[in-house]
Amino acid sequence: MYRIGNGYDIHKLTTGRDLIIGGIKITHEKGLLGHSDADVLIHAIIDSLLGALALSDIGTLFPDIDPKYKDADSTILLDKVYKLIKSKGYSIVNIDSNIIAQQPKMMPYIPKMKEVLCKILEVNNDQLSIKAKTKEKMDAVGQEMAIEATASALLKKTN
Ligand SMILES: [Zn+2]
Repeated sequence: MYRIGNGYDIHKLTTGRDLIIGGIKITHEKGLLGHSDADVLIHAIIDSLLGALALSDIGTLFPDIDPKYKDADSTILLDKVYKLIKSKGYSIVNIDSNIIAQQPKMMPYIPKMKEVLCKILEVNNDQLSIKAKTKEKMDAVGQEMAIEATASALLKKTN
């Protein structure tokens, strides 16, 4: 039995915050605003995993009104969600994702992001794809006001 899920997220760029994407800190003059660490890529991946098993979404599991999740490390949330997926008897076939940002360039950071996320998700390098795009200077993302991410996940029932 295979199940597919997709996830989407967007966070506003603001001064005075660290930019954390894919579990790593990226050097930039602005960071993403959010109740947690606002890791837009991890949030999209979490929603793709939850969506595949129709388990609702990140906002329902980790409410942004809950003080417990204030500045929460999203790698810990991802770990919790992966354990939930495993407890339902599923494993990850592959994940494909996009980070959509005008600035900074994501490409140099992607190998490290993959290293961090593959370890949490117990997948090999070739089961996790992270791609980077710009918005050609159009809309809020293109105007460097926000960063978006999308993800698709394919899960397989293993036990
Ligand atoms: Zn988010």
